[in-house]
Amino acid sequence: MNITGDVYLVGGPSLSDGSDAAIYLVKGKSGSALVDAGTGDGHDRVMKNIQEAGVRPADITYIFLTHCHYDHTGGAHLLRSATGARTVAHELDAEFIETADPEVTAASWYRARMEPVKVDVKVETAEARFDAGGTEITMYHTPGHSPGSSVLTMRSGGALVLFGQDVHGPLNDSLRSSRADYVRSLEFLLSLEADILCEGHFGVFSGRDKVRRFIESFL
Ligand SMILES: [Zn+2]
Ligand SMILES: [Zn+2]
Repeated sequence: MNITGDVYLVGGPSLSDGSDAAIYLVKGKSGSALVDAGTGDGHDRVMKNIQEAGVRPADITYIFLTHCHYDHTGGAHLLRSATGARTVAHELDAEFIETADPEVTAASWYRARMEPVKVDVKVETAEARFDAGGTEITMYHTPGHSPGSSVLTMRSGGALVLFGQDVHGPLNDSLRSSRADYVRSLEFLLSLEADILCEGHFGVFSGRDKVRRFIESFL
């Protein structure tokens, strides 16, 4: 499903598997990137959707993991081997992804077994920039929902696109959430003044006012 000229939705409950969080594809000029990886249960459909968007698996250079939760990362090991792309996550969530921690990744909540996957690029800074086939993608550390939760931004045809994923939370002790960090991160997201918000479970919000109102509803 095409969201902008170079952003596609390739995974999610209606597209790949009922438990998958949204998987977005950023199509660059000379390479592409994925935002999150779903559970892995809908892997074949995700691969088909990527190809239908006109992207060859080998063109994908990065798999950005916004945080460690199973509905976003369970399929990362399959996508990493199918594409040869490098996985990227904030260092504070990377350890839970690499050890497939059943509690902190929420895999136990899904009654599933998380497969460990190597995180090739562990981001240690509050902000990091990546070149995905000629498209600049910025990753920001926005803790709260999980310690290493992150969001990504890019420009698409003049619009600032924010991949916020689990903007809505929830916050839970077993997920090592922090309300104080979460509130600070939501305020930071508001300061970005994004034109389009791609959320992990609530769809796509277009227009600065709609994006702002959705983020503010959790403050
Ligand atoms: Zn989550
Ligand atoms: Zn989620």
